[in-house]
Amino acid sequence: MKQEQLQDAVQKRRTFAIISHPDAGKTTITEQMLLFGGVIRSAGTVKGKKTGNYATSDWMEIEKKRGISVTSSVMEFDYQDKHVNILDTPGHEDFSEDTYRTLMAVDAAVMVIDSAKGIEAQTKKLFKVVKQRGIPIFTFMNKLDRDGREPLDLIGELEDLLDIEGVAMNWPMGSGKNLQGLYDLQNRRIELYHPDDEQHRFLPLNDDGQLIDDHPLLQDSLYQQTLDEVGLLKEAGNTFDRQKILQGEQTPVFFGSALTNFGVQTFLDQFLELAPAPSSHQLVDETNIAADDAEFSGFIFKIQANMNPKHRDRIAFVRIGSGEFEKGMEVKLQRTQKELRLNNATEFMSDQREQVKNAVAGDIVGLYDTGNFQIGDTIYAGKREVQYPVLPQFTPELFMEVIPKNVMKQKSFHKGMQQLVQEGAVQLYRNYQTGDYVLGAVGQLQFEVFKFRMQNEYNTEVVMKPMGERIARWIKPEQLDPAMSSSRNILVKDLAEQPLFLFENRFAEQWFENKYPDVQLTAKL
Ligand code: GDP
Repeated sequence: MKQEQLQDAVQKRRTFAIISHPDAGKTTITEQMLLFGGVIRSAGTVKGKKTGNYATSDWMEIEKKRGISVTSSVMEFDYQDKHVNILDTPGHEDFSEDTYRTLMAVDAAVMVIDSAKGIEAQTKKLFKVVKQRGIPIFTFMNKLDRDGREPLDLIGELEDLLDIEGVAMNWPMGSGKNLQGLYDLQNRRIELYHPDDEQHRFLPLNDDGQLIDDHPLLQDSLYQQTLDEVGLLKEAGNTFDRQKILQGEQTPVFFGSALTNFGVQTFLDQFLELAPAPSSHQLVDETNIAADDAEFSGFIFKIQANMNPKHRDRIAFVRIGSGEFEKGMEVKLQRTQKELRLNNATEFMSDQREQVKNAVAGDIVGLYDTGNFQIGDTIYAGKREVQYPVLPQFTPELFMEVIPKNVMKQKSFHKGMQQLVQEGAVQLYRNYQTGDYVLGAVGQLQFEVFKFRMQNEYNTEVVMKPMGERIARWIKPEQLDPAMSSSRNILVKDLAEQPLFLFENRFAEQWFENKYPDVQLTAKL
């Protein structure tokens, strides 16, 4: 690809994740987007999400037919003049550190909120990670076709609970049974919920924000009420600030209903316009690498082990940070300085090699991994050595004690443990006093994967004893006195030999803080 072509291709990329609490409507809105992108033809195609298993054969069929790449992890399509990559952040049952790490590979996030419920627990967790990255966050207040909370209330909650300014891009005219439409502040139009005919879905507004043409809505008290609310919003609400949006300090708020496909396209159009194309990345040596740099580079943010014991393949997901990926290209693995030829790229997209050939900065490619890669690894082509920053570690919330079932299997137990921990499947700690192994995770699924893989790949049965939810807090070694430990705050050390307490609950932590006011406790991300 010539430089100009590369620049052009990179500018078209929009790579994002959708975060939400289960049932807020992520699948439904994703599906609508895939419909707009021509990836699927009818709603209801995205199946089996509750188990985390998409109907793979369906996906493969779709891929073949449409020549696009759809996997359960990355959904890719062209829409208008953009090339869209949606990275899946699995819901509830599949929640794991992978979910968080996926957020390291996107350039923007969409937050879907159920307008009847407001901000819920999982949204809050995921938001924290996105916020820390300082990437733009766009909000879709969903389920407007149902009675929900007051729009002003919902926007206020963003500020109160998430500490981010919300700026309304459009405003609902009624809700539930009384939903009439959306007052679109950005496009200066009213979008009708049930237009008499599709051609009159949009009603233009004049410079004063009033309807231009004669319309029955003019007689509706809801219209006047909306004008009043919008007036108030203009006076007292936050002002649209592109810079703040790009820095993740302000979130544009859109209202709509994913299920009835109302306001989704309006959202998508504006989102793709406002969301940034891939830009430069800061590297470990503090230099920057531009997304349209002529040389390829990328980092691995997720490794997915094939759960089929007959094929021990693992797929390493690479976020391309710069340049262009070509099948068969030679790259260097920064950590080992080993040269690799990327022949076995994305076999799951084998019917569309062209797609893979065209992958550029912003895109995700899957590499078949025979054990070369670790989470956070950088691969690059060209002479300049590239190293992307290490991916952050996340504070685990669930813990398990773990031992091999058969003591004769100590050796493979340790080997498996070491490799799976290196890979980032779980986090490993040791009891400070006894040296026993303790595993930490952010989601239950990680333990299940760990157990399964120990059995299948290392032929070791493990016995796991749940310790439940704990609050992990690190303590400075010089402040530590092992006598501080108790059953309510178990003392362990991490892989870097740093001590931390696993508090039973918030009360135990508070009790500790009161007892040792000078001791500093810290959490990771
Ligand atoms: P997810 O768990 O966030 O992926 O949520 P889903 O997309 O599966 O939606 C959860 C439930 O809410 C499903 O029954 C959807 O049909 C429903 N739902 C999604 N969007 C809307 C909406 O805009 N209005 C209404 N009334 N229901 C919706």
